[in-house]
Amino acid sequence: MTKRSAATMAKAAQLPRMDALLEALAAPGEPLPWRREVVKAAARDELDARRAALAEGREPALDLDTVVAATRRRLEAALRPAPRPVINATGVLLHTNLGRAPLGDAAQRAMLEAAGACDLEYDAASGRRGSRFGALRPLLRWVSGAEDGHVVNNGAAALLLACTALGRSRDDAGLREGVVLSRTQMIEIGDGFRIATMAAAGGVPVHEVGATNRSHLRDYEAALEGEGQPRAAAILWAHASNFAQSGFVAQPSLAELAALARRHGVPLIADLGSGSLGGELPAAEPTLPAYLAEGASLVTCSGDKMLGGPQAGLMVGEAALVERCRRFPMARALRPDKTSLAALHASLVAHAREGETELPLHAMVRATMDCLRARGEAILEQLAAFQTRMSLRECEATLGGGALPGDRRPSLALVIEGEAEALAARLRAPQDGGLPVVARIEGACVWLDLRSVPAQRDADLVARLALALDQN
Ligand SMILES: *Cc1c(COP(=O)(O)O)cnc(C)c1O
Repeated sequence: MTKRSAATMAKAAQLPRMDALLEALAAPGEPLPWRREVVKAAARDELDARRAALAEGREPALDLDTVVAATRRRLEAALRPAPRPVINATGVLLHTNLGRAPLGDAAQRAMLEAAGACDLEYDAASGRRGSRFGALRPLLRWVSGAEDGHVVNNGAAALLLACTALGRSRDDAGLREGVVLSRTQMIEIGDGFRIATMAAAGGVPVHEVGATNRSHLRDYEAALEGEGQPRAAAILWAHASNFAQSGFVAQPSLAELAALARRHGVPLIADLGSGSLGGELPAAEPTLPAYLAEGASLVTCSGDKMLGGPQAGLMVGEAALVERCRRFPMARALRPDKTSLAALHASLVAHAREGETELPLHAMVRATMDCLRARGEAILEQLAAFQTRMSLRECEATLGGGALPGDRRPSLALVIEGEAEALAARLRAPQDGGLPVVARIEGACVWLDLRSVPAQRDADLVARLALALDQN
């Protein structure tokens, strides 16, 4: 045994014993409402953490009172409701780490109402079994212009299901297997996930074609014709949602690929990602209806990006293909729950309505600079006590969430000078355990971008700022 580990073990022996710890945690005064096994498991984690710290050569406190208090904090932290609401003042409207699209009132109400018993798979008129997707299908068709639609858990699931269900087929010349994907579209979407590996996760091979910067129709054609390997069963198009290429580049258009797919009798699956339905969103961002009009056989996208709804994966397109996906065994493993379906329904109804949608994402995009300035000035007025450190400055917000990389829109930030790191930390993790505010730091200042904060949160923002600034 080394000297170090002997010393560590001697110290670890000073940690309280489990029964003493449990007795102290059960002491009258502030009884814990948690089951004994749960308290014991949390206490074990706390002891393990302190032993690990000792082994790393650190010097954690080992006395009973400290370990009891730390175990209580550990229990409280793990057992309070989660995820917790936050104020997103980052200026990234669709922030993947902050829950992407915020849901509107109608969608939130719909989720609550569906939370109890509901007619998810029940046809009340006949008293028979109904379809989980029955209420959504006409809406999906109407807002996208597709023949039919299906819904799964998220965009990645839609891509996986489409490629797996449609990536193997048979025609007069025999087996077709795999999807063709150009190297120009071999995208990584975040957290290390890549379109090509997600497409192949169901066991269907991906035929990579072309070069990083250039691919041609003949590259796709060769994969569809085989050439020494099974002929590909589908073409996959992935929207380059988070990067742009320029220079010596070439990529056949969606319409050209659609014509090629038709000639070979295979489907063109287009992964749109963002799921824009147009309206107030950037005109440069492709939309579901546009992809269908250009000839995509099946379009997949997320529900919680530009569609402004809950986490979901939409698949819309030719009825026979949608039906193949719906019937594919994997579909059962990817089906969404009743509350997401309810929120998606309400979000699509918002898209179906005449005039401006009531979706919070759209309201954020729509807000004029005058409107942001009026809100900013009202906030400044309420925080007059800290006026010397604060100003309103113009900045740029981004759509985020797989929108066009160049999508920047003018915005306005409340900028606070001094002690930026400490202030941002207090805003993120307030001592009173209240609503966290996530801001960004730039040039030694805290920037609170008002475009990503819903106007209804301004009063909360003022309260949180007053508290955090007061502690300076
Ligand atoms: C975001 C995105 C996905 C994944 O969608 P999730 O809903 O996050 O699973 C797939 N493809 C593209 C092009 C995307 O932008």
